[in-house]
Amino acid sequence: MTAPQAQSTAEELRGAGLRVTAARVALIETVRDGDHLGVEAITSAVRDRVGHISVQAVYEALHALTAAGLLRRIEPAGSPARFEGRVGDNHHHIVCRSCAAVADVDCAVGEAPCLTASDDHGFSVGEAEVTYWGLCPGCSTAGSS
Ligand SMILES: [Zn+2]
Ligand SMILES: [Zn+2]
Repeated sequence: MTAPQAQSTAEELRGAGLRVTAARVALIETVRDGDHLGVEAITSAVRDRVGHISVQAVYEALHALTAAGLLRRIEPAGSPARFEGRVGDNHHHIVCRSCAAVADVDCAVGEAPCLTASDDHGFSVGEAEVTYWGLCPGCSTAGSS
């Protein structure tokens, strides 16, 4: 789509004021290539690419990258946090109650973000997050047979 990955990832880190390390680059690319990965999956994928890194270091890097807006953290109620590289468009998620599969859902009203609350209680709203819960196709087929 846009610029070649390795270079642009390092540039994005620099642009966000973060130090560029092999682990951070691998982490961002792992999350972007993945599909709403959890911390365990991210840690093992990053280890495959750059060698040993502690889970604590992965948590800290994820925190810094999320705070810098390079990654987005989603935390469906009752499930561990997941991370994704699709940031800035305020999209929503649909989660399978059975296997915890997660998929992206574009803004419910077709114009992002869904910021028009029926009653905003005087708050200045900057983000809306909708989680749709249901059964993924695999799980609903398994249940009906
Ligand atoms: Zn499922
Ligand atoms: Zn997503």
